[in-house]
Amino acid sequence: MKLNGNYKNLEESYLFSTIAHKVNAYAQAHPQANILRLGIGDVTLPLAPAVIAAMQQAVTEMGKKETFRGYGPEQGYAFLRESIQSYYARRGVSLAADEIFISDGAKSDLGNILDLFDVENTVLIPDPVYPVYVDTNVMAGRRIVFADATAENGFLPMPDEGVKADIVYICSPNNPTGAAYSRGQLAAWVEYARKNGAVILYDAAYECFVCEEGLARSIYEVEGAEECAVEFCSFSKIAGFTGTRCGYTVVPNALAGGALNKMWLRRQTTKFNGVPYIVQRGAAAVFTPEGEKQIAENLAVYRRNAKRLSDCLDGLGIRYTGGKNSPYVWLRCPGFDDSWKFFDFLLEEANVVGTPGCGFGKNGQGYFRLTALGGEDATAEAVERLKKLLGK
Ligand SMILES: *Cc1c(COP(=O)(O)O)cnc(C)c1O
Repeated sequence: MKLNGNYKNLEESYLFSTIAHKVNAYAQAHPQANILRLGIGDVTLPLAPAVIAAMQQAVTEMGKKETFRGYGPEQGYAFLRESIQSYYARRGVSLAADEIFISDGAKSDLGNILDLFDVENTVLIPDPVYPVYVDTNVMAGRRIVFADATAENGFLPMPDEGVKADIVYICSPNNPTGAAYSRGQLAAWVEYARKNGAVILYDAAYECFVCEEGLARSIYEVEGAEECAVEFCSFSKIAGFTGTRCGYTVVPNALAGGALNKMWLRRQTTKFNGVPYIVQRGAAAVFTPEGEKQIAENLAVYRRNAKRLSDCLDGLGIRYTGGKNSPYVWLRCPGFDDSWKFFDFLLEEANVVGTPGCGFGKNGQGYFRLTALGGEDATAEAVERLKKLLGK
């Protein structure tokens, strides 16, 4: 037996373990400290009542002989695929139900989709970005080139004809920078992909936070994208499903002459068991009028948090991106070139925890991510402490 040697090429991910270690050490040494955690990108509000009611109803069905369900379709029940289809249709994007695949989350699909592509492909990944794209390709042994996301390009790298890539990752609104592409900017990426015969893997996990006109919530808002892009989305951020687990991936029939859709169906029916019926019922409730109303209230809380954080940085004259169409605020560390030094400073002087930008790629050095997905009171208190600590 030979091991997959590519795993040796993975860089140890110390980011969240180091944060936890530092915060625990500080808390032990200062038991009185009220530490405010704006570090991890997890949601904090509970599931909406409409989601809970739908799941309770589904539990009852599972307990009755007449309505019990066993193995379901691996690609998801029609009721959920159709409600996602109409969610897109309300935004002017027309999809066929068989182009939508339900899964246990965007992270799984982003990793699993790589089964469909040859190892000889070159992948283009923005830096900084969500670490999953890099690690899944390192595990497979693919060549990776990076697209620099910097203050100069507003953390939105644009295609470079001199760089040839076969698989292009785009995450918009971006984790960690909060930057979001406009439709026009995405059109340039679609043009690049079509010209070069590349595929775009578009991560729309934060689409529900987009509120500005002209910014895209789906890559399929761009003409021709259905011929070159796969879109990944999730119930994690829109509806707090990080622990409940449900996501979906759109693989258009127009992509690679329909081959990719067929291959993904084959891959999922062979290797994936589908998402529990109960969870899919909960997910479908997200797109009912009642569910949408309740979820809008939750998202409004996170948006208010984001506004508080960005107003605070505006007041302090600190440069940042995000905060408007994203639950993340990405700031230039004031007075520090090293993200970890700023992390220690904030933890020690204000008892506020954020995420060092260098953990997301080399261009993140000197930057820092704060999340708006925390509690309202904690965010308001964190803002007061930041003002006091960083105000001149
Ligand atoms: C949170 C997040 C996801 C969603 O992942 P799930 O596996 O569905 O919870 C996907 N992409 C990015 C960039 C994220 O931050």
